Amino acid sequence: MMWKKFLPNDFVPSVRDISPEYLKKREIQGIITDLDNTLVEWDRPLATPDVRSWMENMKAHGIRVVIVSNNSKKRVFAFADPLNVPFVCRAKKPLGKSFRKALEILDLPKEKVAVVGDQLLTDIYGGNRSGFFTILVVPVAQSDGFMTKINRMIERKLFRWFEKKGLFPWKEGVRGKSVDL
Ligand SMILES: [Mg+2]
Repeated sequence: MMWKKFLPNDFVPSVRDISPEYLKKREIQGIITDLDNTLVEWDRPLATPDVRSWMENMKAHGIRVVIVSNNSKKRVFAFADPLNVPFVCRAKKPLGKSFRKALEILDLPKEKVAVVGDQLLTDIYGGNRSGFFTILVVPVAQSDGFMTKINRMIERKLFRWFEKKGLFPWKEGVRGKSVDL
């Protein structure tokens, strides 16, 4: 069923809810994470102290992290370099190529890697069709770049449909108003 590829394996309010314990329970040792509106607001150039300590905590627990973003090299490099985190930019998610590249960087079997992101159409769909465990987060900001705005319109329809089918047990306040459910 096509629509199943848009459904995440799990959903959490924020990347901060993805702890080493959470990952250990699921036997996950690596993370492929989106950048814009997943780690920080799409228009915030640098990591917040929060994100920085999340990254450091992951490293301290032996969890490998790679950033995979559809955004430009300029944007992704400026964000990832100070954190000393590897990245794939201009990723063209949901296409599979960048996920394969990220997996090479992580040097882990696919079964031990989770894809994290704020969008169903790029992060979750891409992660699912490449065979990863997928985790959806609430977008950090309620605003989006131009292309994402278009994706959100389709996403809202998917959310409504999932809700109607009882497939997506979002609780009020978890997803919040960010997608106008
Ligand atoms: Mg994003």
